[in-house]
Amino acid sequence: MRPKSIVIVGGGTAGWLAAMMLSDVSARRGWGSKVTVVESSKIGVIGVGEGSTAVFRQMLRHFKLDEAEFLRETGATIKYGIRHRDWRRLGHSYDGPIDTPQMVAGAADLDLYAVAAGRSVGEAHLFQHLLNGNRAPVSRREGRDVQAGPFHYAFHFDQALVGAWLRRKAQGITLIDDQVQGVERGEAGISALVLESGQRVEGDFFLDCTGFRRRLIGELGGQWLSYADVLPVNRAMPFWVDIKPGEEIAPCTLAWAQKSGWMWWIPTQGRYGAGYVYSDAHCTPDQAKAEIEGVLGYEIHPRKDIIMDAGRQRDAWIGNCVAVGLASSFLEPLEATSIHGTIVQMMMLSEWLGQGDGRERYNAAVGTQVDDFRDFIRLHYVSERRDSPFWCDVASSHPQVVRDRLAQWRDHIPRPADFPRFPPGLEHLGLAHVQEQLYVPVMDGLGLLNRQAAQAEMAANPKARDLARATHAGLVKEYTRAAAQCLPHRAWLQSLSG
Ligand SMILES: Cc1cc2nc3c(=O)[nH]c(=O)nc-3n(C[C@H](O)[C@H](O)[C@H](O)COP(=O)(O)OP(=O)(O)OC[C@H]3O[C@@H](n4cnc5c(N)ncnc54)[C@H](O)[C@@H]3O)c2cc1C
Repeated sequence: MRPKSIVIVGGGTAGWLAAMMLSDVSARRGWGSKVTVVESSKIGVIGVGEGSTAVFRQMLRHFKLDEAEFLRETGATIKYGIRHRDWRRLGHSYDGPIDTPQMVAGAADLDLYAVAAGRSVGEAHLFQHLLNGNRAPVSRREGRDVQAGPFHYAFHFDQALVGAWLRRKAQGITLIDDQVQGVERGEAGISALVLESGQRVEGDFFLDCTGFRRRLIGELGGQWLSYADVLPVNRAMPFWVDIKPGEEIAPCTLAWAQKSGWMWWIPTQGRYGAGYVYSDAHCTPDQAKAEIEGVLGYEIHPRKDIIMDAGRQRDAWIGNCVAVGLASSFLEPLEATSIHGTIVQMMMLSEWLGQGDGRERYNAAVGTQVDDFRDFIRLHYVSERRDSPFWCDVASSHPQVVRDRLAQWRDHIPRPADFPRFPPGLEHLGLAHVQEQLYVPVMDGLGLLNRQAAQAEMAANPKARDLARATHAGLVKEYTRAAAQCLPHRAWLQSLSG
């Protein structure tokens, strides 16, 4: 199928990303599709969701969008990874830098060496050094910015500002500000939408980007698979905190474990977007607010009370309609998987739309993608903490899939062969997924990697050990020096504003 008319309902981050990516593929393939976005200014966007992954930067590059303009106009900041505080035990902290030094290490196994040597796996990551020093990703030479390394970093941003910026950048897209009130069914699925104003919008391919309302996919009988049995938190209390003048902006997300869940703490240029994600079986909203105020030492003003039903559509693509963004799946934002997932899904859709088995491939891949995110997130809760009813309950209820993973990695650290490449058939796109590069830092931080097994593996191959040791030492030296030359993060962001 080569859609002549694509109608996207929803103008949040998901809707505008989908609009840009599908109009791009239509132009590249010569389909000449007309792309229409229907959004409702009366309903608005979710207004939370502030951490991206490196895929977002790849997307900016793909569309030749100017990164400095993006940072300036959306007030975004740089993100090198996630700092996990108090997850393993109170007072303990570990980082998950998102660069992939293995990419430049050739045959040297950096993680295996670091674990065997009893060193943090982050040490050989450029991003760990940039994060430690609160540095920008560039140094300045002769008035020009020079990138410190080849790796893509991520961003923190205000989701509403990014949606508005993407809308300004999207070209050749018809925008209708109205509300979908009715869905007319046809043989393929949906034939037209009826809007509040009475206007009818016909199309041959539809995207449901209506957030938690799931306005279109619901009409087609979309089934929600709940993850409530795997993920222990179900409620979010977002709030904002001002950044003080002159205060350095940490280029990482803080995920800070609390008594009944965890708090996110994300800097944009003007404020912190923060929130407590908790289990309402273990504390009430009032108790959650009091707990956070106790931790921070001041009063907070919650912006919303969000009931979270983590899960995904059984089939995100039904008939001629694909659910995208929050309409398709939702997980607690511990690894910023949502916007990342949307971008990867739109890349898969761009590849498979028009192929006979495209829908089956897409549904299977999205199911695997989101289930893999879920399992990875749940693994973060394998903790030594037993200081509250929540942590005791979590410790006694690890799902089978997590116990299987831990058993699998009792005698070796996670390695590429443990993960089927994803998405199947699209390896050439080089899309990031939750695999060894994400599992190793988290398991290292939680103390779940087997150092003796790593030592035995290295000892069995002295040549490989020597290569890994030398490469590791070279990278630590190089990245320490490179980070020291980079500009301070906040000063660099301010310099982009002129
Ligand atoms: C607490 C929380 C924290 C999060 N943190 C992160 C994070 O750190 N990183 C991350 O990647 N993601 C995060 N997310 C997810 C992220 O917010 C979403 O993936 C992202 O904002 C995309 O949302 P959306 O576009 O699907 O939905 P929304 O932003 O809700 O947009 C829905 C759109 O649909 C329109 N609409 C709805 N109904 C109708 C109708 N009947 N007719 C016409 N238009 C309609 C609305 O007007 C709106 O434009 C978080 C989510 C939550 C709840």
